[in-house]
Amino acid sequence: MIQETDVLIIGGGIAGALCAYELAKKKIQVTLITSGKGNSHRAQGGISYQADRQDNTLFKEDIMQAGAGLCYERAVDQLVTWGPKYVEEILLNEIKVPFEKCEKGMWKLTKEAAHSASRILYHGDTTGQKIMESIEMKISDNPFITRREVQSVIDLITLSHHSKTPTDIYAPSTCIGAYVLEGDSVVTLLAKETVIATGGVGEVFLHTTNSKEARGDGVAMAYRAGVRIMNMEYVQFHPTAFYHEGEPRFLLSEALRGEGGRILSHDFKPFMNELSPRDEAAREIFQEMVRTSRPHVWIDMSFKEKDFLQKRFPTIYGHCLARGWDLAEEPIPVVPAAHFSCGGIAVDLEGRTTLRGLSAIGEVACSGVHGANRLASTALLEGLVWAKTCSDAISRTITPLKFPEVEPWKMGTEPIDEALIQQDWMTIKQTMWNYVGLVRNTHRLKRAYKMLSELKWEIDSFYADAVLTPELLGLRNGCETALLITQGALRNPHSRGVHYRIR
Ligand SMILES: Cc1cc2nc3c(=O)[nH]c(=O)nc-3n(C[C@H](O)[C@H](O)[C@H](O)COP(=O)(O)OP(=O)(O)OC[C@H]3O[C@@H](n4cnc5c(N)ncnc54)[C@H](O)[C@@H]3O)c2cc1C
Repeated sequence: MIQETDVLIIGGGIAGALCAYELAKKKIQVTLITSGKGNSHRAQGGISYQADRQDNTLFKEDIMQAGAGLCYERAVDQLVTWGPKYVEEILLNEIKVPFEKCEKGMWKLTKEAAHSASRILYHGDTTGQKIMESIEMKISDNPFITRREVQSVIDLITLSHHSKTPTDIYAPSTCIGAYVLEGDSVVTLLAKETVIATGGVGEVFLHTTNSKEARGDGVAMAYRAGVRIMNMEYVQFHPTAFYHEGEPRFLLSEALRGEGGRILSHDFKPFMNELSPRDEAAREIFQEMVRTSRPHVWIDMSFKEKDFLQKRFPTIYGHCLARGWDLAEEPIPVVPAAHFSCGGIAVDLEGRTTLRGLSAIGEVACSGVHGANRLASTALLEGLVWAKTCSDAISRTITPLKFPEVEPWKMGTEPIDEALIQQDWMTIKQTMWNYVGLVRNTHRLKRAYKMLSELKWEIDSFYADAVLTPELLGLRNGCETALLITQGALRNPHSRGVHYRIR
């Protein structure tokens, strides 16, 4: 089946959904594709908003310092200059996100680690959910936005692959949409402009705070289309995620350590500096788990009053209690977890990639804002700002396009062996965790590169003839993404920000 649209947006988190919203305002027809909820719904802390314009310089300094000298200054300038305006115009005035207010009706602003001022808008510990609910309400019946819940996007369609005339061979390649697995069939979705907003990469690690869609699908498909990818080695890890056998990890805010939470080893003895910043703490915990061969350490909050914990951390308290752990009574099992990807598809200030007709925004993109490490509560803001600049650029430049004839996708017939998929995922996750995780060295990275390259070869060979399933597509993308992170880490001998090499 072949279908046409003006703009195809792959991913409906804060970046993709807001881009669709902005384009629809300009009466541009958008098809917005999602395969699940993504990370935006999970954001706990908040979104940076330096309401006081004087704070601009300080905010910039905080971001640059967190980024360990690798931030792209023009991107940071764009974020701090336009961020507050777009928060005000779009999130507060138009979409009306119910951030918390003080009694006098002013917005409550909180402070997070490494911020030099209180500048974060929030809603309890469910900020992301509130933002996404408000956006979804706003776009749900918009006649310019067609929403499609699909199994997965398969690959981008690029013009030069389908060129009919010899001169086209020399023309730069152009993206004209994507093949999409919807139900059991493949839809050829042709678009004048395509925007990737598929989020992060956490799922390729054994422990992650990310949603299961965060496998780097967008990075992998862009890479296969020859698009420039950068900074993939900079994956931020969160020191404490709740560890419960058989369940996805759940983020335990750094505010727990801020409230005096003590990290203990398997024998309930302290082993690390309680004041270590986030990245050092994550590394110390990882090293302790390796040293003691244990699957987790503990965080102890039991010295705090139950009442205080229930009020200060309602979601965290409830989540742990529902699984039989009372934060007020006993230490809770925790592990560090892959949290945020600072690298991704290289983009400019308007989200343009190196492939004509293709943009990327949000966590999947590398705008340079985060450099080698991300300042807390700047990811949602980046999603908002780049959604706006990208939609502005597209609405300025979108041109009528007569789509060429595109061959339909040829579906294979080989059934998939689910045991293979499961085992291959375990190989990827374990390899990435142990060899390409918090502490890296050449030996580990080379071993990972060899294992993942062989696995990729295996996957590619059965992919060619297989019946497509979302699991197989995810595995193929996950392996590609894992290799890109490994290659980035192997090529970069310098410890900087979240990329930590011991040799
Ligand atoms: C637990 C947690 C807490 C966080 N807290 C904060 C915070 O307080 N403040 C902050 O600024 N940042 C926070 N972050 C980071 C921030 O939430 C993310 O970086 C941001 O939400 C990413 O938004 P996005 O739109 O790029 O992607 P996402 O919100 O992840 O959306 C990705 C979209 O792509 C779709 N998709 C993916 N693959 C495919 C495919 N193959 N085919 C079709 N669709 C696909 C998904 O279905 C989804 O709709 C947090 C992250 C986590 C995990």
